[in-house]
Amino acid sequence: MTNPHTDEHCLAIFERLSEYIDHELDTVTCEDIETHLNGCQCCHSCLETLKRTVALCREMKPDPVPETLSSRLKDLIRRLQ
Ligand SMILES: [Zn+2]
Repeated sequence: MTNPHTDEHCLAIFERLSEYIDHELDTVTCEDIETHLNGCQCCHSCLETLKRTVALCREMKPDPVPETLSSRLKDLIRRLQ
């Protein structure tokens, strides 16, 4: 099985997932991400993981998205590749 995260589109989706969760993106971008997530099992499971991480962070801190989230996300991408 080839890793779909070597795909450039997957990386672009990945970089926007935290914004997507926080509803910071416009409708067109959201639809683009949703279309990709529906066809990409790997990105879909990453979204679920990220959602849990964000929920966990929110429980611990009043700050909605910690600064470290994007760097943690990049670390995750690197490990998946
Ligand atoms: Zn993908």
